[in-house]
Amino acid sequence: MDFELTDEQQLIRDAVREFAESEIVPVAAEIDRDHRFPAELLPKLAEMNLMGMTFPEKEGGAGADYVSYVIAVEEVSRACASTGIIMSSHNSLATWPVYKFGTRAQKDRYMHDMASGRRLGAFALTEPAAGTDAAAGTTTAVRTGDGYVLNGSKMFISNAPHAEVYIVFAKTDPDRGTRGISAFIVEGDTPGFAVGEAEHKMGIRGSSTPPLYFTDMRIPKEALLGEEGEGFKIAMATLDGGRIGVSAQALGIAQAALEAGVDYAKERVQFGKPIANLQAIQWMIADSALQVDAARLLVYRAAACVAAGRPYSTEGAMAKLFASETATRVADRAIQIHGGYGYTEAYPVERHYRDAKITELYEGTSEVQRMVIARSALR
Ligand SMILES: Cc1cc2nc3c(=O)[nH]c(=O)nc-3n(C[C@H](O)[C@H](O)[C@H](O)COP(=O)(O)OP(=O)(O)OC[C@H]3O[C@@H](n4cnc5c(N)ncnc54)[C@H](O)[C@@H]3O)c2cc1C
Repeated sequence: MDFELTDEQQLIRDAVREFAESEIVPVAAEIDRDHRFPAELLPKLAEMNLMGMTFPEKEGGAGADYVSYVIAVEEVSRACASTGIIMSSHNSLATWPVYKFGTRAQKDRYMHDMASGRRLGAFALTEPAAGTDAAAGTTTAVRTGDGYVLNGSKMFISNAPHAEVYIVFAKTDPDRGTRGISAFIVEGDTPGFAVGEAEHKMGIRGSSTPPLYFTDMRIPKEALLGEEGEGFKIAMATLDGGRIGVSAQALGIAQAALEAGVDYAKERVQFGKPIANLQAIQWMIADSALQVDAARLLVYRAAACVAAGRPYSTEGAMAKLFASETATRVADRAIQIHGGYGYTEAYPVERHYRDAKITELYEGTSEVQRMVIARSALR
């Protein structure tokens, strides 16, 4: 068993860290404060080959291995969790299903533009009354002579309205339960497609999360992704990988909070000495360092399973559950170490704390991850 990164993975970490510190850190607090989607970062992420990292070069991607991808998401999220999810949802949730399930014609139409970062993607599964119970969605796709007509709405769609390509799930056969759901590739400028007001969120405020509305939206039959009735399977397979991206996002947030706590403990003097000399502070730092390290091992292991072509559903669920709960705990401790100052915008730890919480919720809540892990353990 080898716990060392390869030279290439180490180079990618160094390059992405340097990029994130020079280009993303300077805007991270501002985009959070102003709830501003950092559109100006998209061409820079693309130039760094971060928008299609694991896809082959002939499809427009960077041809990197999956461990390198999670390292990149970790490093971007260490700088800014909003930018981390913009990148991760584009790679894992929008581009991956086109690559995995698309026809040659669909790949020719979308892969180069998406994997090179020219066109941003989004994944639209959740509906107002269908979250964890994703099969309860009521959006319908009715077949016509030359395509489908979609009606319904989606909720909490990351990257909209900035995305140009949407993976949309709708019922083609409402009586068939999960087997009656189909996936479609929908372009954002299709007549009948509308985007609502972005949610005002607790954290990751630089990432937009609005609802979508489809009103008699006509799409061609070539928009169907996979076979009719395969949509639920496509959604679950996509989320299996997406979760590993979120686990890397959580790891980046946890790492940033750990470092902030350590730096502050060394600087802040009380009773004539840095508070880092106090055992109470050292124990908090020890617990955080331990949990971040354990999270990293789980996240990298899940990514290594993907890279090796092994099953990764349970490993991804474990990585996401542990890394997301670690992010919340470590950010909480980082605020505690900062005392009252940690509760103010003068330090980034309150942002890390607000950002961390979402990683326990989206792409399957912690309860869902426990269900996946228990199912595997009880098999
Ligand atoms: C910022 C943000 C970005 C998002 N981005 C996207 C996106 O890009 N695309 C997209 O499709 N969706 C997106 N989502 C939706 C997200 O994935 C859902 O919010 C999440 O899956 C939970 O669904 P829900 O909010 O409806 O909660 P619910 O499903 O209503 O769950 C409420 C509570 O009940 C628990 N619960 C539900 N069912 C069970 C069960 N069977 N067993 C145990 N506990 C259960 C949950 O764990 C949770 O604690 C986003 C959400 C947010 C907040």
